[in-house]
Amino acid sequence: MDSIPEPRGKFVKVKCPDCGNDQITFDRASTQVTCLVCGATLVKPQGGKAILKGEHKTVE
Ligand SMILES: [Zn+2]
Repeated sequence: MDSIPEPRGKFVKVKCPDCGNDQITFDRASTQVTCLVCGATLVKPQGGKAILKGEHKTVE
């Protein structure tokens, strides 16, 4: 059986600064993540790690 590679990076819950929607995303997203409710940018990829907008915390 193939082993499953360890995931790199963590999932984080980001609170949209515009509408307050909580959204789960990846802290090393390679693409921009937008709020599903209002369309605001929540995560912006930059140089291998992502810039997280608004409040965020790691999801255990
Ligand atoms: Zn929003």
